[in-house]
Amino acid sequence: MQSESPAATAAPITAAAKLPGLLGLSPTDIAAFVAESGEPAFRAKQILEWIYAKRAISIEAMSSLSKSLRVALAEKFTARCLTIAKVTGSEDTTRKFLLKLQDGRYVETVLIPANPALYGGDSDRRTLCVSSQVGCAYDCKFCASGLAGFTRNLTAAEIVEQIVQVEAYAGERVDNLVFMGMGEPLANYSNVTKAIEILNAEWGIGIGARHMTVSTSGLAPQIRKLADFPLQIRLAISLHGASDDVRSQIMPVNQKHPLAELFEALQYWRSKRKQHITLEYILIEGVNDMLEQARLLAKRARGIHAKVNLIPYNTVDGLQWTRPGEEQQDAFRDVLLAAGVTATLRREKGHDIAAACGQLRLKQETAEGIIESPVPEKRITIGAGAVS
Ligand code: SAH
Repeated sequence: MQSESPAATAAPITAAAKLPGLLGLSPTDIAAFVAESGEPAFRAKQILEWIYAKRAISIEAMSSLSKSLRVALAEKFTARCLTIAKVTGSEDTTRKFLLKLQDGRYVETVLIPANPALYGGDSDRRTLCVSSQVGCAYDCKFCASGLAGFTRNLTAAEIVEQIVQVEAYAGERVDNLVFMGMGEPLANYSNVTKAIEILNAEWGIGIGARHMTVSTSGLAPQIRKLADFPLQIRLAISLHGASDDVRSQIMPVNQKHPLAELFEALQYWRSKRKQHITLEYILIEGVNDMLEQARLLAKRARGIHAKVNLIPYNTVDGLQWTRPGEEQQDAFRDVLLAAGVTATLRREKGHDIAAACGQLRLKQETAEGIIESPVPEKRITIGAGAVS
């Protein structure tokens, strides 16, 4: 296990706590730092290589840089701003990493081994499910991430570092990324897109744009903005309801951006991109699993040529929702298939851990007294009252 902490990497060049991470810097940022420090321009390339190509775990280790440049760098930045606090799961299944941030908060990231039923059908790819925020402000009624509310956005460095830390720990490359961990990526637009640029760049981490998926609860204006973003990343929508009444019950964001507005934004996305959009649909018993919803979902999916991923709901501690029986799950899928929609139903174990992202962090922060234990009893009423 990588047990690097700022204290362990600092001596003798001492880095103060809470400095921005080097893994959030672009070549332009580095060139600006080098110019400010009065150093020759070629130093910028060296620093860039230490950060990304060589993945230096400390500034001290950047041996081709002068001592004074390393000191100047360590005054402004830190090589690592996360530490791995806990790993659960196993190599053959899904491994979940609890990562501690410099301010003592936690986020989760989940490594999913090659899996045939994944987004984009990348069967031979190792997927990492990354977080974009600490907590979440969107308050989806079924989700653990938002239970304790929203704390803050992650920086670009904290996002990129999730991949770098997991790769170092696992000793293997990640080749597929999904922004399906904690948080709403499109509510942290500038840091997420900056991280995507770094993750994609040849000088950076080198993951193909088509192997990165941003998942959103449906922030229509930001979907349009992302459609104009130059990299050919994929888009997934957490839909979970095919009519406004059903969706608004479990996703308050739907009151702000109802389905008509969301699907107009998706049409705009389609006009800019060739790749199919994925509609994620959790099946929750008695809430959104009625076959009438399946018929409406089929219509909506066909309208934008989207694929549908059905996910039986994973129980969250403190929430009462359950998944429907397998017969109902199959019947729901069959309605989609009969309507000519590409639909998958994922029942594999790994996703039980992945989709429950947020729970580990919730437990840890509650145990440490960082947050009060959330009071889920107040939040689980099915019906219009639940979203007030
Ligand atoms: N906020 C973004 C990114 C988070 S994605 C979004 O909503 O898309 C996390 C995914 O896991 C979402 O599709 C979410 O709806 C799903 N999810 C959350 N809790 C779940 C649970 N208990 N069981 C199954 N899926 C869940």
